[in-house]
Amino acid sequence: MYRYIFLFTLVLFPTIYGLAQDDALVPCGTSKIVEEALKNPEKKQIMDQLELFTQEFIANWSEQRKASNQITIPVVVHVIHNYGNENISYEQIDQGIARINEDFNGLNDDLSEVIDSFTNIIGYPEMKFRLATIDPDGNPTYGVTRTASLFYENTDSDDVMSLINWDSKKYVNIYVVRSFDANMSSAAAYATKPGNGGELGDYIFCRYDYFGDWNVNTDSGPTENNARRHTLPHEMGHFFNLDHPWGGTNSPGDTDANCTIDDGVEDTPPTAGTDGNAVGCPLNQTTCGDELDNVQNIMDYSSCAHMFTQGQSVRMLAAAESFAGNRYYLWQDQNLIATGTDDAHFLDQPHANCAPIPDFISDIDLGCENEEISFADFTYNYRNQNITYTWNFEGGDASSTSDPNPVVMYPNSGTYDVSLTTCNGNNCNTIVKENYITILSKKQVSLEEGVTNLQSFESNSFPNMTETNEIWWLGDNFNQQHWEITNLASTEGGSSYRIKSQGYNANRRSHEFSSPQLDLSEFSTSSDNTLQICFDYAYAKRLPYFEFTQTDNPHSIHNDALVVSYKTSCDANWNERPRLSTRPGQEGSFLNKQEQLITTDSVYFNNFIPNEDQWRTYCLNIQQLAGSSEAVIKFEFKGTGTDIDDTYLVADENGAFITEISAGTIGGNWLYIDNIAIGNESSFEEISSTRNSTIENLVISPNPSSNDNVLASLNLNRESEVKVTLTSFLGRVIGSKHINLNKGHNDLSISDIFNIPNQGSFILEISTSNTRLSNIIIIR
Ligand SMILES: [Zn+2]
Repeated sequence: MYRYIFLFTLVLFPTIYGLAQDDALVPCGTSKIVEEALKNPEKKQIMDQLELFTQEFIANWSEQRKASNQITIPVVVHVIHNYGNENISYEQIDQGIARINEDFNGLNDDLSEVIDSFTNIIGYPEMKFRLATIDPDGNPTYGVTRTASLFYENTDSDDVMSLINWDSKKYVNIYVVRSFDANMSSAAAYATKPGNGGELGDYIFCRYDYFGDWNVNTDSGPTENNARRHTLPHEMGHFFNLDHPWGGTNSPGDTDANCTIDDGVEDTPPTAGTDGNAVGCPLNQTTCGDELDNVQNIMDYSSCAHMFTQGQSVRMLAAAESFAGNRYYLWQDQNLIATGTDDAHFLDQPHANCAPIPDFISDIDLGCENEEISFADFTYNYRNQNITYTWNFEGGDASSTSDPNPVVMYPNSGTYDVSLTTCNGNNCNTIVKENYITILSKKQVSLEEGVTNLQSFESNSFPNMTETNEIWWLGDNFNQQHWEITNLASTEGGSSYRIKSQGYNANRRSHEFSSPQLDLSEFSTSSDNTLQICFDYAYAKRLPYFEFTQTDNPHSIHNDALVVSYKTSCDANWNERPRLSTRPGQEGSFLNKQEQLITTDSVYFNNFIPNEDQWRTYCLNIQQLAGSSEAVIKFEFKGTGTDIDDTYLVADENGAFITEISAGTIGGNWLYIDNIAIGNESSFEEISSTRNSTIENLVISPNPSSNDNVLASLNLNRESEVKVTLTSFLGRVIGSKHINLNKGHNDLSISDIFNIPNQGSFILEISTSNTRLSNIIIIR
């Protein structure tokens, strides 16, 4: 007795026999997709044409037609992975394809378990599935591609197909991923019926642990698990236009709905279908009348799937013979030759000249001088050949090696490329990963300096700052909007750093950068005067939206956050400090201490550029780093970006319903950061008291005076631009000018600045953004 694991498929398009059903087993996303597909007249037309063809094909069917031509179908398996065990082995892929071939040719050994009532209707279309041995470019292949991508989990089929797709008129594209997004999260696999795919054609998607009944934990098999064993054949059944035995819905066991619809197959009796998850294998089941349900059918959901019927077999062959849905092109002789699945090529060492395709990862990509970094080989498109490796490590020790999985150290800070060439004889491929390894530089932070500015984003060469030989680390951009230097706003110098989450996929990724290795050994570990990091930041909402359900505590639904973490040494773990978040207190560390990321009440549709008042200074205690000689501080932007699965009810600030909105259409606004500084708390306090520009001791001399000899003196607490205005007693402006003055004492010749009348009383006003002083000038 095997543990039964439920499997079901998405029927992207209901057949003419049935309507889409809402069902507890299918996440709401399915009905949305079906609704979308229903609106597509071209797809509906293909389905209608294929059905007409199929009915005629069945009416004219005779067994003799099949006898002479077993058709061959070329297949490619696209493995989408993140270097985990979802990157399934060739052995597992072989087994999955073998399981399809067994079931489609009546060779599955569990066919013997079919009960007497059904043995006379067993059928199989005698289709042969072969992994392609020639790729679309004409190169030798094992018929398996391996793509490292963040789309390996929570997968949406459109995202994955945009990564890789072979012509669907020539190959059956089977995609393997770790998990599906919320629309399909409870499915093991799904397929398109003929013509139901989008621009890139039809496909099958399968979770890595349902690709054959392979033990994915030990990478050995088979397990004989009934559901897993027949998952791919079930999907291939859909791919060749089969419905579930009750019809085109996804609600097995629903007597009311399913007994009145049909699967278009003569010899599968009307059935409500079998919810195997609940009832296992009820061989005596009669759900729609007296006739015994064909519970052992591969297209049902029982825990004893073993067979197709003759009717199903003919229906699949009809799909294969039809132009409607493109299945006809797959098995034509010229396509078998083009894909290397014809006997002559396929049976004659088709892989001898396969060029291995290199790929690799390292255990860390942010390191310190002379730290050991391990590289792991992920080369594919070879199996039993002895292949050669040529690594090149720019700046590394060693700088090259032929070891498949080398360990390398980097003596000097810098950002370095890594390349790997792999060869099968003279058949080679090379991959270069640019700026793949960053070795942080070391930076001494002086206690005496008080507050040390770490970064104000003024260098054109940031993060690899050639002027100061500082190496900062800039993490992976994941092909998304990443941190970028901008001169649109700043609080120190002319530039700042910014990022926004618009355009991200549903998988939230951290966009990171980090400081060099900071030597903070001068700072006391026992001080009450704690070590702090302070920075300026600005962030605005993009839309005035609030969560309708939380009107008592409305907040932006857009879940953006800025997280600062540190580590005390190169190989220590990161420690997160309280984050700034649009939803403080919802996730992360120190929930109670988190603060609001939004720095302005104003809303900007898209292009927030902060003015002076919209910046905020934020300081974090990093006393844990005091005394460390190799501290690293990391900034992470965690944006949600598009979140296709969520629909929000939007309310105004009074809680009144405005509209329903898909979060997929919303991105966050820009987050700016500038002026990152480090120092003791007391030093920052001193700075903030001097931050505001203030004028003191405005004195006019001599006074009274003549109009060609007026001198004003004043003190400034910092270098500032001041505004100097001279008006008459009646308020008439005689002149107004902006002048840059130095810190400390300044003498201004007012007679040189303005053309002063030769008699009268006047008011001289000198102001900064923070203070304003005035004095009377008497001219005689
Ligand atoms: Zn299905």
